[in-house]
Amino acid sequence: MNRFSSVVDAIGNTPLIRLRRASELTGCEIYGKAEFMNPGQSVKDRAALYIINDAVARGALRPGGIVVEGTAGNTGIGLAVVGNALGFRSVIVIPETQAQEKKDALVLLGAELVQVPAVAYADPNNYVKVSGRLAEELARTEAAGAIWANQFDNVANRNAHIETTGPEIWEQTGGKVDGFTCAVGTGGTLAGIAIALKERNPAVRIALSDPLGAALYSYYTAGVLKSHGSSITEGIGQGRITANLEEAPIDVAYEISDEEALPIIFDLLEHEGLCLGGSSGINIAGAIRLAREMGPGHTIVTILADYGTRYQSKLFNPAFLRSKDLPVPGWLERGPAVEA
Ligand code: PMP
Repeated sequence: MNRFSSVVDAIGNTPLIRLRRASELTGCEIYGKAEFMNPGQSVKDRAALYIINDAVARGALRPGGIVVEGTAGNTGIGLAVVGNALGFRSVIVIPETQAQEKKDALVLLGAELVQVPAVAYADPNNYVKVSGRLAEELARTEAAGAIWANQFDNVANRNAHIETTGPEIWEQTGGKVDGFTCAVGTGGTLAGIAIALKERNPAVRIALSDPLGAALYSYYTAGVLKSHGSSITEGIGQGRITANLEEAPIDVAYEISDEEALPIIFDLLEHEGLCLGGSSGINIAGAIRLAREMGPGHTIVTILADYGTRYQSKLFNPAFLRSKDLPVPGWLERGPAVEA
């Protein structure tokens, strides 16, 4: 076992887990990188650490300073974990529609939570815009200073994946990785891993797995940012080309519905013991499509972005699923085997 001097050293170096059914179904070896095993239980711990370390190195963030961010939750949780460990406060702006479990985790970690209505990026009340203004204000008024993490356009986010996640995947597969896919929130994960893998082997095929309702699928297939449909997945689905996404070497794009992604999540929990959030379902559905497109015998890697308990009140709640006209698996319908 490794021995660390602080929780921040436990970020990264996550295992690759073989996804049995997805592999058997396609004749490929499909692996998920278990990012839910990070201390904050998501892939965003890596970006949080890089963003904070970069701000400290630039002299922008000083001891006791405040890190402000707009987030669907996971980046905020990562910033609060790292902030608590390194001595920074967190102020987190979150759309009120996000899962209660993520808000509870943020409060538990001592972050100051600001909830705003879920409105489009063009609206000045959008969570990203509110967080930027709040950071400016706190930088002026707080003695210890404040920074805006700005995960969408701060490429310290992408650098985390160029320098850690991508090289880890290369090492863990012994360089025998044929394809990689994941969804995009900021684009840091997809672009960073894509850049790192293509640098080592330009033939690695990179796929964007986009949830319905996001505009990137149409951008990478038809050159226009156009959206249709919607998804209950949180933390993914982007409407613009963020700085982290610029020049991302993407070969192919898939558009994936909740109806395609959710059964994968339910099946993995029931048969493989993997309890995952909705974006992981989009990612694995994309990995299966990429495997089918490339043919049997290939090794495909994707991201298991966060843990499913973070969405228990939604993804694993029959009433919620029914309200969205989504399928409810039999075992979930029957309820827990043992009453609490
Ligand atoms: N999945 C989940 C659950 C997330 O919270 C996020 C980040 N918002 C992503 C995927 C996407 O990661 P990235 O921001 O690196 O594109």
